Amino acid sequence: MNIAVAGTGYVGLVAGVCFAEKGHKVTCVDVDVNKVELMKAGISPIYETDLEELMRKNYEAGTIEYTTNYIKAYEYADAIFIGVGTPERTDGSADLSYIATVARQIAETVRQDCLIVVKSTVPIGTNDKVEQFIKDFLVHDVKVEIASNPEFLAQGTAVHDTLHASRIIIGTESEWAKECLLRIYQNFNLPIVSVSRRSAEMIKYASNDFLALKISYMNDIANLCELVDADIEDVAKGMSFDDRIGGMFLKAGIGYGGSCFPKDTKALKYLAQKYGYQLKTVEAAVDVNKEQKTRLFYKACDRMITFKGLKAAILGLTFKPGTDDLREAPSLDNIPLLLEAGAAIYAYDPVGTENFRTRYPEGKNDNGTITYVHTPKEALESANICFIFTEWNQIKSITPKEYSLWMQTPLVYDGRNIYKVSDMNQAGVEYHSIGRRNKN
Ligand code: NAD
Repeated sequence: MNIAVAGTGYVGLVAGVCFAEKGHKVTCVDVDVNKVELMKAGISPIYETDLEELMRKNYEAGTIEYTTNYIKAYEYADAIFIGVGTPERTDGSADLSYIATVARQIAETVRQDCLIVVKSTVPIGTNDKVEQFIKDFLVHDVKVEIASNPEFLAQGTAVHDTLHASRIIIGTESEWAKECLLRIYQNFNLPIVSVSRRSAEMIKYASNDFLALKISYMNDIANLCELVDADIEDVAKGMSFDDRIGGMFLKAGIGYGGSCFPKDTKALKYLAQKYGYQLKTVEAAVDVNKEQKTRLFYKACDRMITFKGLKAAILGLTFKPGTDDLREAPSLDNIPLLLEAGAAIYAYDPVGTENFRTRYPEGKNDNGTITYVHTPKEALESANICFIFTEWNQIKSITPKEYSLWMQTPLVYDGRNIYKVSDMNQAGVEYHSIGRRNKN
């Protein structure tokens, strides 16, 4: 089928490339000229395993193209997938302005019957509004219908998650739309759950918010573990054997970040409030996460007289390994606090420093300074304190002994529970992590 994809971020680009890989003819549209030029040159504007390889393969085979010319892409498309951002507004609601722009562009350009598929995460009822909006502005006499097809990929493993998705959710209001989506996905050989549009929209929020809740629950229990001298890793292990709980997402840490969990929890909370309902569970997840992100910094404040002039090694800037995305990353909550306190930060991240540098340029920032380094060793050498924010392999491979060898004061605050407490203690490192005893 002839498919157009609006937006070439994590969702749109990966979807487009995977549709091409499965035999469709795909045109990816973005408003960002630089992104489109990069993609045409075979370079992915985002860091995702296997993505560039599939981009090049399909570009050379002529099954995918990239353009800013939405008219050409949309006018004779059989289906148009919308994968533009739906960021958080200051009140927590989802900003639908990018969706509205694409909807308007579609309405003004489509010249044949077309299924519009909303892949972006949107509040329940949005698909209805998009359909009405497109019909209101439709220029040519063609049939358009809207379907919901929320995306569940995780950044860092986006290609794998798309080609081997646990399920594909399709939300439609007619047999025609359902058949069309089934045809698009027929070569994927994955379980398909077909529901109404509103249920599909809700499945996305309910799934993300449940995972966020699971993370916040474990972090809440971890904080209590510290007080009652229990060990969260042992607790999680013991829980994981129960099939009703499941073994995934039981890891305590510095809190969730990224472009989805933070905004999707707040958006559902906002939506519930709009309907006069208080979504207490999700609200609790949001509150716990907010405090969790800076918990280690405030723990360190209790330990130190000052950060002024001290060398603080920061290991990891991105919100998780495998991505260069900084959105809602714990580093962004902690680094301003350290800078305000006068620290001399030496930050290491294997892929995230360039993005971070645009927000915090090298040199003086607030009362402190920030320097970007290329190896963990450069960050740790002669450091007085270290914070671990992301569990990159390059960071996990630092041995406990190396912290005590390289740092002036081997004092480590680990937001990812990378090390065994006993190993760090044995190596002479003062080690603070989440939900575990400092000494064992
Ligand atoms: P993103 O910000 O990485 O990408 C959005 C892209 O859309 C940008 O490249 C932007 O230039 C482009 N764009 C904006 N207006 C446009 C227009 N009029 N025409 C064409 N392109 C336009 O966003 P993302 O992370 O891919 O997320 C997209 C949506 O998918 C969001 O609703 C998000 O919640 C949801 N989602 C994201 C993930 C994830 O892991 N990132 C996972 C599942 C769902």
